[in-house]
Amino acid sequence: MEMDDHKRRRNMILYVLIAFALYLVLNQVLFPNIARQQMTIKEASYSTMISDLKNDRVKDMEYTVGSDSDALYTLKGDDEGVAYQTTVLPGAEDYLSELIADSGANVVVSIATNNSSTWLYLLITFGPLIIFFLVGWWLNRKMKKAMGDDNPSMDFSSGFGGLGGGGLGKSGARIVASKDVGVTFKDVAGQEEAKESLKEVVDFLEKPERYEAIGAKLPRGVLLVGPPGTGKTLIAKAVAGEAGVPFFSISGSEFVEMFVGRGAAKVRDLFKQAKEKAPCIVFIDEIDTIGKKRDGGGFSGNDEREQTLNQLLTEMDGFDNKKGIVVVAATNRPDSLDPALLRPGRFDRRVPMELPDLAGRKAILEIHAKDVKTEPPIDLTAIARATPGASGADLANIINEGALRAVRLGRNRARQEDFEESVEVVIAGQQRKSTVLSDHEKQVVSYHEIGHAIVAASQKEGAPVTKITIVPRTSGALGYTMQVEQDEKFLTTKQEVLDKLAVYCGGRAAEELIFGEMTTGAANDIEQATKLARNMITRFGMSDEFGMMALGTVQNAYLNQDTSLTCAPGTAERVDAAVQKIIADAHARALQILRENKFKLHELARYLYKKETITGEEFMTLMRRENPFMPPKPAE
Ligand code: ADP
Ligand code: MG
Ligand code: ZN
Repeated sequence: MEMDDHKRRRNMILYVLIAFALYLVLNQVLFPNIARQQMTIKEASYSTMISDLKNDRVKDMEYTVGSDSDALYTLKGDDEGVAYQTTVLPGAEDYLSELIADSGANVVVSIATNNSSTWLYLLITFGPLIIFFLVGWWLNRKMKKAMGDDNPSMDFSSGFGGLGGGGLGKSGARIVASKDVGVTFKDVAGQEEAKESLKEVVDFLEKPERYEAIGAKLPRGVLLVGPPGTGKTLIAKAVAGEAGVPFFSISGSEFVEMFVGRGAAKVRDLFKQAKEKAPCIVFIDEIDTIGKKRDGGGFSGNDEREQTLNQLLTEMDGFDNKKGIVVVAATNRPDSLDPALLRPGRFDRRVPMELPDLAGRKAILEIHAKDVKTEPPIDLTAIARATPGASGADLANIINEGALRAVRLGRNRARQEDFEESVEVVIAGQQRKSTVLSDHEKQVVSYHEIGHAIVAASQKEGAPVTKITIVPRTSGALGYTMQVEQDEKFLTTKQEVLDKLAVYCGGRAAEELIFGEMTTGAANDIEQATKLARNMITRFGMSDEFGMMALGTVQNAYLNQDTSLTCAPGTAERVDAAVQKIIADAHARALQILRENKFKLHELARYLYKKETITGEEFMTLMRRENPFMPPKPAE
């Protein structure tokens, strides 16, 4: 930095010299005034000047128009250093102007009254110089921004626009004072462990002295990791809200700029502001955009991101932690972060934000339902049960969609059915009324869905069927069967996985059994079944052939759970064969179950065809009803 300083001063001097030289040159071109001091000035009569002009002998002329106009001129071919001066009589200006225009002489006309002439002279002399300086300063500033310099002595810009307004700092970081955050831990449901962990940070921000006194060092950086929509951004704001300190928020993508170096400048600027406002929280959302692992290659072509990351690391090492700056960052791709970021002294505290469990989902639904006018009875537990795997954002969305539906239907209070419908909207998309199925297609879909449902109902421990519908959805599903676990499940047995596979196969099996043909309708079932079967073998160790051998690793735990195989090509082939066998067995089992319940299959499919949507109870009542054409089952 110091070295930079020297360089800059030298540059500045150079710049001034160049500017001055340019000024002189331009001045000569634009304002060829005759320097009076170096000239012998001879008096000339007015008539001499007129004849000189008429005869085209005038080279340069300075002609001042005013109360006592005068003209100063030099002649062509005359020896250097002689100028002639004459007084122009008032009233002769017009005539003189014409003559001057005709003569083609180089003329500067200045309008002057007695007392302003000095001012005018000053303006003409120094005006361009001032403009030069302004332009130069502006350029310099721009350049500095690009270079990421914040040398205060050269910094003409004022600081950021103060707190409270959510003003934009130079770095583009949104700065929000704590009272504007409007979010506290109360607004974050579930996530108890995360809150616990962050409470300490809050406490530290409130009384940094206490921690300093005992010699404890608090983490400078807290990394929130978890799938999208689990409330990472929310909880970071809540920390600021709890602590009552300024909250600087910037998203990782905002650092990635078109110009190399801008990102790094933003980081520097952000921390400069943070230091001024400490204690405070700096929140970097989606840090993976800048914090990706650097490649060793060197010429990786992403200098910009690397520079930004390096700057961030430097800043995190640099600030004095006693002041109380805590950097909170969020990401849903922790595995892709550069290890340097996770080193002690940087983001060494990792706070996981997992998808909410049943209780968590209920709590989140309650928080968001508070703001919605509802009509009892409302059973949010039922909604929470129906939404395993939903994130906090999904749940907030479900409540909002429900309220929107109530408005759409002309009601001023939302009902349970609104929320139930919006669960489906979030899971499967809006109902698509425009899709018109042919009669045969509708039959096929009916049998397909009932096929799933009957296989599901025949499993000893499977989740009960809660709804079956053949109303097409915008997601492309032509119908679906909803099963809802009554309790949270944390472990799944091998038998349950196999049962689930059979349920996936039930749709296609029913089509084959009844129509003797295959349709594309099973595409999604097939995908799910294959994924599950593959996981059984490669991750769950549920095959006899491979046993407890991990054959794949999960690539991105928080996003799509993609697994990549980590085995020899030969093994991969055997895995494929095993997957195929598992699915074939499940399919055979599903066919068997449906064959045994063929009568029920017909009865229920017809019922569904007529009603389009049936509830779990309707389904179970019909399912349990005795078949009048069959001999009664022997009692067990
Ligand atoms: P992330 O940053 O993890 O992707 P957000 O914090 O942006 O998720 O969450 C999006 C929205 O979802 C929040 O604004 C909030 O309305 C809702 N939400 C998510 N998690 C929770 C939660 N635990 N409690 C209450 N609301 C939540
Ligand atoms: Mg977020
Ligand atoms: Zn299906």
